Amino acid sequence: MTDAGAREVTVDLLRAVGDYSSTYLRDPRSERTGSVVDRAELRRGLAAPLSRNGVDAQTVLSELIEHGEPGLLHSGAPTFLGFVMGGAYPVAVATEWLTSVWDQCGALYATSPTAAVVEEAVSRWLVTLFGLPPHTSVGITTGCATANLTGLAAARHHVLAAHGWDVERDGLIGAPPPRILVSQGCHVTVHRALRLLGLAGQVTPVETDDQGRMRVRALEAELTRTSGPLIVCGQVGNVDSGAVDPLEAVCDLAHEYDGWVHFDAAFGMWAAASDTVRHHVSGLEKADSWATDAHKWLNVPYDCGVVLCAHPTSHRAALRTSAEYLTPAVDGGLDPVDYTPDMSRRARSLVLWATLRHLGADGVADLIDRCCTLARRLAAGLAHTDGVTVVNDVVLNQVLVAFTPDDQTTDAEHLTRIVTALQRGPVAWASPTTWRGRPCLRLSVCNWQTTAHDIDQCLAAIVSAHRDAGARLHTPIEEFA
Ligand SMILES: *Cc1c(COP(=O)(O)O)cnc(C)c1O
Repeated sequence: MTDAGAREVTVDLLRAVGDYSSTYLRDPRSERTGSVVDRAELRRGLAAPLSRNGVDAQTVLSELIEHGEPGLLHSGAPTFLGFVMGGAYPVAVATEWLTSVWDQCGALYATSPTAAVVEEAVSRWLVTLFGLPPHTSVGITTGCATANLTGLAAARHHVLAAHGWDVERDGLIGAPPPRILVSQGCHVTVHRALRLLGLAGQVTPVETDDQGRMRVRALEAELTRTSGPLIVCGQVGNVDSGAVDPLEAVCDLAHEYDGWVHFDAAFGMWAAASDTVRHHVSGLEKADSWATDAHKWLNVPYDCGVVLCAHPTSHRAALRTSAEYLTPAVDGGLDPVDYTPDMSRRARSLVLWATLRHLGADGVADLIDRCCTLARRLAAGLAHTDGVTVVNDVVLNQVLVAFTPDDQTTDAEHLTRIVTALQRGPVAWASPTTWRGRPCLRLSVCNWQTTAHDIDQCLAAIVSAHRDAGARLHTPIEEFA
């Protein structure tokens, strides 16, 4: 195919996707939020063996849309409350597309000068937005899990170097054993990162309170038993309750023992951008590394996370690679490859740049405030319903709810019925968790489009699922046969 021919084909395909998008992006509120097909049906449409001869590109797109769309979870809907997901701003979706058209390798300045400089700009914007020390280094990752891995790799380097050990050169065997104190409220990806870094055996959990916040007393007690390299992991926004560890106290105490503090702040970090909820994360800026996400609360498409580090030299020392064939930036500017575990990578900074440029600092603050206000509205409505208990203090965007069934059914069965009803319905898709031994429904408000009206619709759906789950219990057993 000639160059001009290939160009035509690309543009025609983009046009087809554009046309389809206007149908797909129509108001999803009248539909079922979840998948309408099962795995077997999806496999029939999508998992046939690879053919010998290919299929033309337009047909490929049509097939993918036909067989793929029924299995989508409409997590971008403004009434979707599951996990902590969020939707995507139009400017972000369009920039994702542009990123593909440009197809830049975001590894080095040499492989994409634009991506490297955009990443520098975005890095400064984020550091300012979060109120972190101005010299903080930044890496754009696939998500918060990779950001945790990166931040903790920097931590491992730093605390071992301070005890005369070069972990990048000598590995861990024979190293002075670090102590790693991890809030019991920390996300599973913190534990996985520590495992991948060979540090699983060094972990000591630190007790949390009824909201899931690290108990300062418990941390103090562990610290008095500590000498040698120390890392403390805290949680900024518990994945269930949204609770935030006492950040200031955690940092001050850990630093008295020359420890490194790493915070998982996948969504909680964004509270720092808002005047009204920033006080919930005061002390955030005192940590040594932070991991967060853009694909959740900032509402950019998957995938996009961010690692930030107050010790750029340690950050770079832990991640840096060099090879004869890689041309490093010689002008003192940044090579993104030195700050994350990837080498070749999507130029994710472009979407961050576009979204932040579009919103401005006030736009980000407004997004965060709006979601927190709506989470409180949802919680207030639920708290006024018989047999419903909001079990967390709604400090950010998370609402955690327990239900009391009105007869012999167990809490777990009752919750399963509620979840099933919500996941089959058009609004308030949500998922369960267990909070301090009690089955609970997790609700997260983090979509840029969500309105008070959406929240009221969700509230009505949850209340009616709760009533139906109870009411069904009075139905004679035979009816289930
Ligand atoms: C989602 C989440 C993570 C993991 O982030 P990914 O972006 O999924 O890699 C870590 N911590 C918390 C609190 C989260 O909500």
